[in-house]
This record gives sequence, C-alpha cells and structure tokens, in this order.
Amino acid sequence: MQTLAQWRTHAKNLEAIVFDQRQRLQAVEAQLQALQATSAQTHDQLECALNEHTSLLQAAQAILGANTVDEICLNFISHMNSIVKADSTTLYLIDSDKQIISRSKFHRRPEASSWQLNETKMTYAELMAGLSGRVINTGQPLLSLNPEDGLEPPETLERRRQLDSGSLIIIPLVTTTGVIGTVTTHNRRTERVFTPQDVTLLMTLAHQAAAAIQRAQLTEEIKQLATTDSLTGLLSRRECLQLAQRELSRCQRLGRVASTLMFDIDHFKQINDTYGHPVGDAVLKGVSKQCLALQRPYDILGRYGGDEFLGFFPEAATPVARQIAERLCETVPHLNFPTDSGTVSVSLSVGIATSTGNDDTLETLIKRADQALYGSKQGGRNRVTIWTEPLAPDRITLT
Ligand code: GH3
Ligand code: MG
Repeated sequence: MQTLAQWRTHAKNLEAIVFDQRQRLQAVEAQLQALQATSAQTHDQLECALNEHTSLLQAAQAILGANTVDEICLNFISHMNSIVKADSTTLYLIDSDKQIISRSKFHRRPEASSWQLNETKMTYAELMAGLSGRVINTGQPLLSLNPEDGLEPPETLERRRQLDSGSLIIIPLVTTTGVIGTVTTHNRRTERVFTPQDVTLLMTLAHQAAAAIQRAQLTEEIKQLATTDSLTGLLSRRECLQLAQRELSRCQRLGRVASTLMFDIDHFKQINDTYGHPVGDAVLKGVSKQCLALQRPYDILGRYGGDEFLGFFPEAATPVARQIAERLCETVPHLNFPTDSGTVSVSLSVGIATSTGNDDTLETLIKRADQALYGSKQGGRNRVTIWTEPLAPDRITLT
C-alpha cells in the first residue's frame, strides 16, 4: 500500500514530466513554424526566380526571333519595360560617325503612345551631356535613385526634375565594335524605385539585344551593298533590272503600259578630264539626287553603268514618261558643281521606249530606249527622244 506521501511525490514527478513534454512540444512547434516560414520564403524566392527566368527567356526569344533592327529594338524595350515594371524605356542607337541613327521609346502609361520609333530631335552632343554620356564613355550601366542623388550632371538636372523623374537605369549596348547605343529605363517619382537586381537583369538582356542588333545591322548593310550603287545611292544595275522585270510582268498581266528610260550625262568625260575624277563623282551624285527627287514612289531608278542611268516607270504611258524626262533635262543643267576654277554644270540626253504589248521583253525595251538615247546624242544632246517604230525619233529640243 502506498502512502499518501508516496502518491504526492509520484504526482509531482508526473507533473514535472508533463511540463517538460509540453515545453518540448512548444519548442518543436516553434521550430515547425520557423521551418514553415522559411519554406514559404524559399517558395516565394523560387517562384520569383522562376518568373524572372521565364520573362528573360520570353524576352530573349522575342529579340532573337526579330529580323530587322527596328523590330529587335521594339521587342527589347517592351519586354525590358515590363520586366522591371517601368514607366518608359528609351533606346538610342548611334553609329560610328557619332550620329543618333534611331530612337525607340516604349511607354507603359495608356495616355502616352505605346511606342514610337525613329523620332528624335536630340543630338549626339545633347545625349552625351546627360547621364547617358557617362554610360557611353565607360561602357558601364548606371542606376540613379533620384535626381538629387548627385549623379545627374548640373546641365541636365533641371530637365530631369521637370520630367517628374524618379529612379532610372541606363544600360550600354556593347558589341565587339564598342558601344552602339544606350537604353534608359525610367520611373516617375511616385513609382517604384529600381534596384541593383534590376540592373543585373537588364544587363543580361541588353547583352543579347546588342548582339542581335549588330547582326541585323550587318545583314541590312550587306543587302544594301548588294542592291544599291555605293556612289550614287541609286539601285545597282542588277537590282534595277530585277525589279523592272518584275514590274513589267505585272503591268503586262494587268494589260497596263510601262515606260523605260535610258539617260546619259552629256560630255561627262570632259568633266573628268578637265576637273578631275572627284568632281566627276560629285556630278554623278548630284544628278542622281535630282533623279531621286523627281521619281514617283513606284518608279525604279538605277545606275546602269558609268554615266548612264536606267529608269523604269510602271503604268506610265509615253506622255507621263516624257514629262518626267523633260523635267529632268530642264532641272539638271541648273545644278552647279564647285570646282577649283568656278562652278560647272551638265546636261542630260534621254531616250524613252514605252511597252506596246505583251510581247515586249525588258531587253527589247532597254534596247529601244538606248536607240532613242543615241538619237538624242546624234540630235545635239540635252534632249528627250521617244522611240517609234521604225526608228524615226520624235525629237523634242530643249533649249
Ligand atoms: P556623251 O555625251 O557622248 O555621253 O559623252 P561622254 O563624255 O559622256 O562619254 P561617255 O559617256 O562614254 O563617258 C563616260 C565617262 O564616265 C568615261 C568614264 O571615265 C567615266 N566614268 C565612269 N564611271 C565613273 C565614276 O564612277 N566616276 C567618275 N568620275 N567617272 C566615271
Ligand atoms: Mg555620257
């Protein structure tokens, strides 16, 4: 039989054990709660990282999937803007001659236009005067938390304040040839302040965008070289013939006429011989510029070779072609080209052949226009001759 004292001692021991167990339980519960909190935090962090990766991946796909420089710039800035939740992002592309060649801007705000391309009044000097200048010179990104953080140069501080500017990030677009542009991501004062983490994210994307822009620029340059005459800016002979052939087929399919023009600078050799090749080049450029100014949007103009040019005017009957040719003949002699001994001017001789039916090949039309051009030269130059069958040129003399 246990005594009362023994029962009491036993009960006390039990109480101590229960107390001890309860404390352990509380400790375990606290540990569990801490673990749950850490796990939720890790989950959030993982989700955040996953979102970042997904956004970066989508942006990279959009950049790499674009074909032209404009398309790459637009895809880049729109994704960049949404990744860091910015108010606006502006991209400036600069060339090796220190000229701003394009500006793309993306706006998140609905009241502002969603995006604009290639419209800027800003000069390279103005761009260099601001924070972008520092980024271009150093090739390093820059994070400015607000206009008053001491980074903004005094020259541009007032302008930034007027723009209600808050934080901004400027990223350089760096390629193997150096810095080809900058991108500025901007938030207003009332909006979120950018972080160094944003800078890292944007740098990753900017690296890919810069490489894609450089590739697209090279492709466009190669295409330009293949299709354009480098001296005059007119179409190359090959490209001109290809486009003219396509247009002639289209006109013939639709039962429409088309006119071919051959024109040549009069006594051009004398210009070279008297004033030198550079003056001759300037004359070729000037005459070409005048031709471009007079052409209609759908006309095809190319340098056929030397001082000879080819024009193909779709859906232009003889009177229309003649009118354009006469205007050329009238205006070109008014162009004055400077030389060491005063200015010099030139005249043009033109031959026109208009298609007469579906049997005319481009080759035939060019041959006829060339015969008419020969007629102009024979007739005293500085004139337009229309090819007629049999060749009995209807000469128009311009005095
Ligand atoms: P015509 O009135 O009969 O046309 O006489 P022309 O002196 O113009 O004779 P022609 O058309 O035969 O002369 C063409 C000259 O153009 C000869 C060539 O040296 C010159 N030429 C060809 N390509 C270029 C060029 O890229 N630059 C310069 N400066 N001259 C060129
Ligand atoms: Mg000539």
